[in-house]
Amino acid sequence: MEFTFTEEQRLVQQTVRQFAKDKLLPNYSRWDRGEKIGRAEIREVAELGIFGLRVPEQFGGQNADFVTCGIMNEELSRGDFNYSLFLQLGMMIAELLAAYAQPEVQAEWLPRMATGDAVMAIALTEPAAGSDAANITTRAVKTGDAYVLNGEKASITFAGNADAGLVLARTAKGGARGISAFLVPFDAPGVSRQVYNSAGARLHQRGSLFFDNVRIPAAYLVGDESGGFYQAMIAFDFNRALVALAALGAARQSIDETIEYTKGRQVFGKPLATFEGVAFQVAEYLTLLETARLVAYKCLWLKDQGQRHTQEAAMAKWMGPKVSAEAIHACMILHGHYGYSMEVPLEQRWRDVVGFEIGDGTPEVMKGIIAREAFGKAYTAYKE
Ligand SMILES: Cc1cc2nc3c(=O)[nH]c(=O)nc-3n(C[C@H](O)[C@H](O)[C@H](O)COP(=O)(O)OP(=O)(O)OC[C@H]3O[C@@H](n4cnc5c(N)ncnc54)[C@H](O)[C@@H]3O)c2cc1C
Repeated sequence: MEFTFTEEQRLVQQTVRQFAKDKLLPNYSRWDRGEKIGRAEIREVAELGIFGLRVPEQFGGQNADFVTCGIMNEELSRGDFNYSLFLQLGMMIAELLAAYAQPEVQAEWLPRMATGDAVMAIALTEPAAGSDAANITTRAVKTGDAYVLNGEKASITFAGNADAGLVLARTAKGGARGISAFLVPFDAPGVSRQVYNSAGARLHQRGSLFFDNVRIPAAYLVGDESGGFYQAMIAFDFNRALVALAALGAARQSIDETIEYTKGRQVFGKPLATFEGVAFQVAEYLTLLETARLVAYKCLWLKDQGQRHTQEAAMAKWMGPKVSAEAIHACMILHGHYGYSMEVPLEQRWRDVVGFEIGDGTPEVMKGIIAREAFGKAYTAYKE
């Protein structure tokens, strides 16, 4: 067993942690005030390499190992949870395009993704199909050398600001087996967007996407027709560990701030930190956060080894955001009335993290996956 990061990974950790502290944390509250991120800022973060992590080197990316991607993701979130979604969606889509897209689609989109010039989304969820994702009804019909898309996607991260997305649409009857993936440029005629008033993570402009007779070249089909759902799940698997690490990074930063605060705050003539009722809460959350972190990194390590990691991914995904949200909540209380102010970043972090207890699969769905792996497919409630 080996629990240490390599020398190179430690350097990445230090570099991104410093960047997050100096550049991201002081500006974190902007998104709550309704500010929108500019392309110049996105390109500045792209210089850290976070957009091209899984873009192959020939297209300008790093083809980084998954543990390194996890480290960057965790550290970014210490400064601003929102930024980790650029990394996550960039990784998922690069992975799928590199594995399954036509060479001309790879050549057009992967270099733009690596430089941060193209912000990407994944559009699976629909108004009537979330946890039951194989039940989607958005249709893609082949007409000559094009597909025509019609339908509505709901709750899509970057709906308001993405340039393109991987859109899952039905090409045949049936459940998951009739679903295909398409790279859809969002400036195509017939695409429209509606941004939600989200409780948190407002940089993401989460919202709905509408496809009204959207015509896209047949070459933009990614992978096999009707194989899109299973291909996408490959990326959803490793991304669950990244969602967990993003939440855990935000929580760990909150704990570190709370340690400093409670050392300085005097109550009953002594530092708050000297009371075990305070220090033991911090000790408990450090334990829970580290436990969730280990399962998330184990998932990414398994992915790097080419081994199955579905169960670890689901474990990390339900546990990471949950213990993170609980830890941040405790940090708010330990700050007393200051913790209930928007002058400190705790309540914003809490709202951001809670969204990702839901996004990318709810705790119930994750436990269903763990149970399926443990009991076997014959004992699941769902049949295709
Ligand atoms: C912040 C955020 C970002 C998101 N980003 C994206 C994105 O980029 N792309 C995208 O495609 N989607 C995205 N989503 C959508 C997300 O994947 C779905 O919200 C999620 O899968 C749940 O689906 P739903 O909201 O329809 O809830 P439902 O499926 O209606 O579930 C409602 C509740 O019932 C529970 N439940 C459902 N089925 C069962 C069951 N069998 N047993 C027990 N309990 C059950 C769920 O756990 C949940 O608590 C995002 C969501 C959020 C909140």
